[in-house]
Amino acid sequence: MKIILDAGHGPETAGKRSPDGRLREFHFNAAVAEETKKRLVLDGHIVIFAHQADRDVPLSERIHLANRLGADLYISVHANAFGNGFNSANGIETYHFVKPLAASKRLAASIHQSLALATGLRDRGVKAADFAVLRNTRMPAVLVECGFMTNRTDLEALQSDAYRKRCARAIAFGVGHYELTK
Ligand SMILES: [Zn+2]
Repeated sequence: MKIILDAGHGPETAGKRSPDGRLREFHFNAAVAEETKKRLVLDGHIVIFAHQADRDVPLSERIHLANRLGADLYISVHANAFGNGFNSANGIETYHFVKPLAASKRLAASIHQSLALATGLRDRGVKAADFAVLRNTRMPAVLVECGFMTNRTDLEALQSDAYRKRCARAIAFGVGHYELTK
C-alpha cells in the first residue's frame, strides 16, 4: 500500500510542548513516524511523509499531497495535551472522522487495539472527531494520540526512545492486521 505518515505540527509550532518545556510534540511525532516508516517499508509498503523537519506544513498541503498521490492510508501521529499545566488526564486514544468510511473505522480499531496493548497506558478508546486531516482526505484516515504531554507519567514515556519504538511497532502491526482482515 501507499501510506502517508503525518507527524503533526512542526518543530516551532507554538504551544505544542510539555508544560515544563522539555518535550516538543513534533519531536515525538516525527520520531515515531520515522520508526513506523522503517517497519512499514520492511513490510513492503511505500511510505511518504506529509510533514517536514523544518516547518509546520499547513494541513491543506498535507491533505492535498495525500489526495494527489492517491494514497491508500493516512495516519497522523500526535501526543495529547489537556489544559496548560500538569494534571491527571492520561492515556491513548485514536480518532476517525465523524462520518467515517467503514475502512477508517476498521483501521482505527486495528491500530488502537495494537497501541493499547503495546503501550500499556490507559485505554481511552476510539473516538470520532471533525479534524481536517480526517475530513478532507479521500482515503481511510486515522489520528493517534500516544499519551499526554500534560501528564507526568505519560510524559516520561513520550520522552523515551523505547516507548517511541513501541508505538511505531504497534502502529505498523495495526496496519498489518488491517491489511490481513480487509
Ligand atoms: Zn498534536
